[in-house]
Formats: sequence, structure tokens, C-alpha cells
Amino acid sequence: MSVLTDLIYGGSNAVAGLTEGAVNDAIAKYGADKPVTMPGTAYFLPTIYAATGVKVEKLGDLPACVGVLKSLITNQEDLGQALNAGLATAVGAEILEALKYVESADPYADEPGIGFVPDPIIRSLGVPLVTGDIPGVAVVLGEAENPDDVAAVVRDYQDKGLLTFLVGNVIDQILEKNVKVGLEYRVIPLGHAVTAVIHVVTVAVRAALIFGGLTPGDLPGLLAYTKDRVPAFVNTFGALDSVVVSAGAGAIALGFPVIVDIDLGENQVPGALVSVLDHSETVKTSLELRNIKVKAKAVSLPVGFASAFEGEIIRRPNTYVEFDSDHNPTCELLTMVDNPDEIEDHKIELIGPEVPEGLTELLRLPLATRVKVYGAKMQKDFESVIERRIHTWFNYIEGVMHTGQRNLFRIRISKDTFNAGFRLRDLGEVLYSMIMDEFGNVVDKCQVALITDKALVEKMLEEEGMPTYRFRDNRLSSLSDESVDQFYTCILCQSFAPAHCCVVTPERLGLCGAVSWLDAKATYELNATGPSQPIPKEGLLDERLGRYEAVNQAVGMATHGAVENVTLYSLIEDPMTSCGCFECICGIEPFSNGVVIVNREYSGMTPTGMTFGELASMTGGGVQTPGFMGHGRHFIASKKFISAEGGTARIVWMPKELKEDLRTRLNKTAKETLGIDDFVDMIGDETIATDPEALLEFLTEKGHPALSMDPIM
Ligand code: SF4
Ligand code: ZN
Repeated sequence: MSVLTDLIYGGSNAVAGLTEGAVNDAIAKYGADKPVTMPGTAYFLPTIYAATGVKVEKLGDLPACVGVLKSLITNQEDLGQALNAGLATAVGAEILEALKYVESADPYADEPGIGFVPDPIIRSLGVPLVTGDIPGVAVVLGEAENPDDVAAVVRDYQDKGLLTFLVGNVIDQILEKNVKVGLEYRVIPLGHAVTAVIHVVTVAVRAALIFGGLTPGDLPGLLAYTKDRVPAFVNTFGALDSVVVSAGAGAIALGFPVIVDIDLGENQVPGALVSVLDHSETVKTSLELRNIKVKAKAVSLPVGFASAFEGEIIRRPNTYVEFDSDHNPTCELLTMVDNPDEIEDHKIELIGPEVPEGLTELLRLPLATRVKVYGAKMQKDFESVIERRIHTWFNYIEGVMHTGQRNLFRIRISKDTFNAGFRLRDLGEVLYSMIMDEFGNVVDKCQVALITDKALVEKMLEEEGMPTYRFRDNRLSSLSDESVDQFYTCILCQSFAPAHCCVVTPERLGLCGAVSWLDAKATYELNATGPSQPIPKEGLLDERLGRYEAVNQAVGMATHGAVENVTLYSLIEDPMTSCGCFECICGIEPFSNGVVIVNREYSGMTPTGMTFGELASMTGGGVQTPGFMGHGRHFIASKKFISAEGGTARIVWMPKELKEDLRTRLNKTAKETLGIDDFVDMIGDETIATDPEALLEFLTEKGHPALSMDPIM
């Protein structure tokens, strides 16, 4: 037998023995009926569920899984079979990790690792992965001989925006080297034990279930999905034992190349198992093996600039300077000029004082970020689309945090970042570079002014800012599905959900919440063969349902025939498909003749008897599931929201946070369409009821309109 297959089988057999023993011990200790669950998932033990279709719910379900696991280990001299044995190791690791959650509700409480990754996090990764904002997923495992090497590799991935999962002692090495760690930095420690690697495997596996519409039990389908659609790879550091090798074989079976830092000589498998001894080559080789393309950094700054820093939070004690509408006038405004001579390309001005050095106390300043662009193909409608990107781009800067927009925002620059030499002018450089990089098709010239003079900021806000915002708001509120003659498709999510297509209309944004009709329109203007294509509003078949011949055609084409009939306004008749990254999901609540809406952030129970995750698991992957539908937050207050079934009047329950977020707009819609005041107060939430009987009682007391409507189904 070759050294490699020998090692793989050695590891797989060891894990099989360990797993069998642990399962038997657990059953002896807790009994076969003791429940087994991973926290925050609707997919049981995801690897076992996806690969075999078996729903493990209690300890008594596990011995059969151990049987399957053992059958995967043939001990035959064949690389393909040995890789299957690697899958057995993955199954064993999943069971061993699940048993940790039987022993304790939070087995990872005392370690820096987070263990199992819940479903909502995976859904939230959908859009950044499809936009290439997260270009790939790295798994870094083991213990480096020199901690500086692994820290440099992980920092490089972070700079490139990749999502990195850490397993083993590299976790401590990374922490010791002060690499910023956490989901918000895209570096996620999983756990010290090698079995913790399963927590990244289940992320890939659940991507297939959530976005890919995979039928549980379809193992070839699963392996094809992870290989073709999950851009992941593994880097191991340090010596390899047989268990690590067999886990690596499992990764290879899933289509993830493994790059090791020891010399495997002739045991290398081209394209799948590769030795790279020089750590300065690790990143490059890894990206090439997985064909991951990283966008070149558009701007040079004294600190990092990468999408990986987008979620970074700067706390007050670490803040050097703050621009905050609560304390000072602030304004963010991008407008177009009609005459190219009005502006000077790449002019970046600071008007007012620069932030002084050597401060010992937090400084607060006013700020207006004034951008002017000219472009032969520029349109007024794109101003707000580009302006809203300021938020994202500023957040890409390491040590800069931006929240809000327009005249209401807060920007914090951290002490470290200021001390590294970052100055206000750099904000202008970031804007110039990113606008030219992302919107170069429509912007020919761009000039930026950063104004810190209070009187000037006030004047600008009053004379230019507020009137422009008001103008845009009026334009937006006059935009309705009736007032335009084109809708747009969006198929960005097809890289994960091949059968999915969003139809974006002025009153119905994409279900991810990130693509409005204006965004889709701009996307099309920027790239005529891109993910958004116009749909002429033609061939009206049914006004109530929002059924158009042209929409059916466009969706049929975009999904290659997978979906041929779609309505815009119905939850029940040919509802729009869901990819999996939806902000909210709504589902019928038969008791009260209405619908429940749950947002991704809410992890508790709903009156349907299902959590967000469980509701969400019933739809997704581009399939239509009448009665359940994913959608964006903003769609809820629209007059078109499930208008075919009666619209707003059907909403009987939402989590409290969602209710409060939507209160003003939803009340307005209900007043206009139903003539009801304070409608939001008639809607149940988790503080009122999470079971259907109690909810019905509450709705009856409030005289909720759904109760007297026609049966919803
Ligand atoms: Fe994906 Fe739809 Fe959002 Fe486009 S609009 S990114 S297809 S969810
Ligand atoms: Zn999506």
C-alpha cells in the first residue's frame, strides 16, 4: 500500500473506533432517547443528513450512522476508495463533535473557538460570496513551526477578503500575533481538536442544502456542489498525523485542495494534495489551485483596506476622532454635474481643519463628504446608488467605522489607524479609487471635498444636501410598479442557487435586501451582460397576482427552464423562488388565517411551531414553495406585499424588533390601504405569544382584520 493510502486508512480506522466507542459510552450514560442536536440548525447533523438523508435526532440514531461510516472504509489500495474513507472521518468527526453538545449546551464556552456555525451565519454569507466580496474560504489547520508564518498567511487572506477558519493550535498562534479575529474580521477560530474541522465542512454542506436545493441523501450531488460551487481549500501547518491526513482526504473528496507545508514527495496528488514548503508561496498556490481571483486593491493606505474589515467595530475608548450627527452637522452627498469642465478629475480637497496630532481626548468634528461626478453615461438615478456605497467603502478601511448615511451618520477613526498615519484626505482617496473602480463605466471624472468647517457644513447641508435628499425621496415614493415600464432580473445568486432568479420591481426589492430596482437598473447600465437584465412590462395575464408573460419568459430563460411561472404578488400561486440568503421569510399561519414573518436575526420560536431556520429550510435552492417565501425587509411595508392574498392585513405575527423597525412605514401602509390606525399594535410578537392559540386570542381581542378575511388557503 502507498504511504498515503496507508495513512488515510490508518486515520479513518482510528476515528471509526473512537466514534463507535464514544457513541456506545454516550448511550450507556444517557440512554438511546437522549436528543442530539447541533445549535442553530434545521439540518440535524448536516453532513450525515446531506450525504445519507438520515435525520439524526437522538443518540439511538447514531449506531446506524457508525455502521455507514465503517462501510466507507474499504482498506483497499485505491485512491478513490481512500478518499471515501476520508469522508468516513468527516462523519466520525461530526458525531464526535455532536456528542460534545450532548455533554454540554456550550462545549466551546471556555475556548476561543466557536464550534458549530449556526444556519443564519451561513445565509448571511450568501450575498458576499456571490458578489465576490468574499472571494474564497480558507481552512487553516495545525500548528506552525514559526507562528509568524501562519500569521502572515492568515493576514494575507484577510487582506484579500477571504473567509478563514482556524483549527488546532494555529488558533493560539494567530491570537498571540494579534491578528484580528472574529466573524466581523473574517477569521473564525473553530476549535483546537482536529474534529472541529467538521464545523467548516458542515458550512459547505449546508450551503448545498440552503442554496443549492440539494436533495438530502444525494451524495454525488453533494460532492459535485461542494467541488463546483464552494471555493474552499485547506492549508495545513506542521507535522501530519494519520487523522489529519484522513480528514484531508475527506476535504479532497469534497473538492477542496489541501496544501501542506511538509514534503510529501511522490505522495502528492496534482491539483488536490500539494506540498508548498515556502510559506510565502502558500497563499498564491492555494488561490491558484482553487482558481480564486482576488480583485486588485484599488487604493494604497497606511492601514489595511479590505472587505474583511467591513464588520469591524470601533469602541469609544479606541476612537481618536468621531464625526457624528448627534454632536455636529454632518452630510454625505454625491451628485452629478452636466458639464465636464465644472470639475477636476481626482481633485481631493480638505476644507477646514485637519485632525490634529497628539490628542489625548476624543475629538468630535463636523464633516461633509461632498462628491461630484461627471459621466457621459451617468444618470441622476445612480447618484444615490453610488452614494450609498460610501458606507461600505469607508468600512473597508481598517480602523474606520461608518454607520448611517446622508445627513445622519457616524464615522469613527481609531487611535491605531490615526497613529499609523491615516488622515482625512485618505477618505477622499478611497472614494475616488472605489468610484472609478466600480462605476468607471458611467463616471468619467470625480472630485471629492472633505469639509470640516462647521459653518460650511451647515450651509452645504441646508443648500444642497437636504433639498437633494427630499428630491430623491419624492422620486422614490413616486416610483411604483405601475409607474415604470421595466422590471429587472437578478441572477447573482445562481452561483450558489442555480435555479434561482429574483424579479426586482420598484415595490419589491431582491430578497437579500441588497438590490433595489434602482440598483438593478444601475447594474444593468454598468454591465449590459451582467446579472441584471431588463424585463419589459408586457403581457399582463393577471393583475391581482402580478402575472406577466414577459416575466415568465425572462425567469424561464434566466433559470434555464427550471422555473417558468412566477407571480410578483402572491405567496400561494407560483410565488417567487428563494435562493437562501433572504432577510425574512413569511409563511402561512392557518390558525389565524394570516401569515407570520420572521427575520434571520430572530432565533426564537414562532406560532407556526417553527423557528426561522426551520421555516427557511422548507424553501430555498431556487424552488417555489407555495405558502412560504423569502423576501427583503423593505418589501413588508410595500402595498404589493402578498397583495394577491390580501396584503398587509394578513400579517399576524413578527418578532418585536422587526415590528419596531417597520412601525412607521407599516402603519402608514395599513392606514392607506385598510384605513386602520396603529396597525402594528394589532400584530403579535414573541412577547405576546409564540403559540397559535394564544396568538389567536390576542388577535381576537385586537380585532385583527385577518380573522374576518376569506380563508387564506
Ligand atoms: Fe441574490 Fe436576489 Fe439579492 Fe440578486 S437580488 S443578490 S439574486 S437574493
Ligand atoms: Zn441569494
